[in-house]
Amino acid sequence: MIICSHCKGNGYVKVSFEAEQSVDQCKVCDSQGELDETKYYHQTWTEGAEDSIAIYYGPPLDPDCFKNYTISAE
Ligand SMILES: [Zn+2]
Repeated sequence: MIICSHCKGNGYVKVSFEAEQSVDQCKVCDSQGELDETKYYHQTWTEGAEDSIAIYYGPPLDPDCFKNYTISAE
């Protein structure tokens, strides 16, 4: 089981919009807080001295291994 790094396993994300703060269901993990290792996700991170963006579509990776890692739903 892989913890969803988008919502940090909470199943929801806090969204700031202007002065308002609201809570959104996490679309990446469908509010489960966990990712399906057999499912494909869009993921990005930065690498190299120039922080060039790497884009990857596939099973969830370990966020600790990547800089500025993000994951988004299909
Ligand atoms: Zn999530």
